[in-house]
Amino acid sequence: MVKDVRGDPIFERRRRPPRLSAAKRKDYLVKYKETVDNITAFRLLVMLPIGIVLHMNFFFIDQYFYPVEAPLFFKIRVVDCLLITIACIPLFFKWGKKISVWVSDFCITLLSWAVILMIFLTDGASNSYYAGVNLTILALLITNGFYLWHSFFTCLAILTAYIIATTSNPVGWDLVKFCFATYFMGSTAFFVLLITKFYRDQHFNAFIRNEALKEDERKLEVLYGMADEKAKIDDLTKIYNRSYFFEILTQKINVCKARGTSFFLIIFDVDHFKGINDTYGHIFGDHVIATVAGGVRNVMRMNSYIGRFGGDEFMLIIDEASTGEFLSRLKEVRQAVRNLKFEYEGKPVTISASFGAARWDSNGMDVTKLIEVADSALLEVKRVQRGGIKYADNAIL
Ligand code: GH3
Ligand code: MG
Repeated sequence: MVKDVRGDPIFERRRRPPRLSAAKRKDYLVKYKETVDNITAFRLLVMLPIGIVLHMNFFFIDQYFYPVEAPLFFKIRVVDCLLITIACIPLFFKWGKKISVWVSDFCITLLSWAVILMIFLTDGASNSYYAGVNLTILALLITNGFYLWHSFFTCLAILTAYIIATTSNPVGWDLVKFCFATYFMGSTAFFVLLITKFYRDQHFNAFIRNEALKEDERKLEVLYGMADEKAKIDDLTKIYNRSYFFEILTQKINVCKARGTSFFLIIFDVDHFKGINDTYGHIFGDHVIATVAGGVRNVMRMNSYIGRFGGDEFMLIIDEASTGEFLSRLKEVRQAVRNLKFEYEGKPVTISASFGAARWDSNGMDVTKLIEVADSALLEVKRVQRGGIKYADNAIL
């Protein structure tokens, strides 16, 4: 069992289907029946062409055994195929799936009755109960397997037809043989029903288990999303946290190395932030940090990243550009910070930030070195002129 840090179970491992409340079970049953309808419909659709080919194939046997009636039988077979195809049309509609299952049950039952009629017309129960037994099994296996009541009524219909056919057979009626055959058919039907029930229960349990697993999967996805966010996003500012930003930075260096391109790293820090905390309190300080992060993020362009370095310090990655273009974009960022409006107890509070920048090109600087360069530029700004921008040998802007 997987547990969270406090030891509470997050989700259970599914070895067997979970215990369900009555309402939930009913819910699952509805879903299950839909699935079963779909499976059965699919099975019938697959069987349709196979059945037609087999059915028409018997025409050759007809020709051999009944050369005179064969042309008529051929026509009957074609009509049969047409009827079966028409009966399968509802399968293509949502509302029709169950109808088709019933129709197929009905057809199998009808077929059984036809064979049993032959028993009646020939020698009754004496040597044909095998046919009845086989038909019972066939009817159950072909149409049912999921629907217990369908199976039950199909069996009952076949059994009834058999009893009527044999008891009213004027040719071969024999009580002992009849009882034996009926007993044989009845017990076969009973066992097949038991197997059907077992099969259906197993199938339903597997279905519930599968549904529960799907629910677990959804839960896991949510948990994963939360964990992923926790691992990458800073709680207060909702921008990348330090560790993930470092990952991005390392990746950026690797990509630029491979492509021979460059980028800029900027570290910026809110000016006199301690004073804000001391004057207006830490909650207001938090608000300032979050607003600055949001304000800068709003003016960021494609392929730019912002992360929180720590405290009131942030880092930016700005994609390859000429120095002039880069500086003008950085001025936009600075302006965005300056434009932020803060108010404490009705009085406006203004803030500014200082920026130190470094450029990564194919000079082979690693992450640490790059940060060192940007950081020392920032320190210079803090020393000389807060609110400024320092990049390379340029004067503070
Ligand atoms: P400077 O202009 O030189 O940057 O001066 P400063 O006062 O801003 O100095 P510094 O950047 O070193 O101050 C950072 C302060 O930020 C120190 C710490 O108490 C405060 N701080 C760090 N993290 C948080 C935070 O999550 N929320 C709040 N409210 N304050 C924080
Ligand atoms: Mg500061």
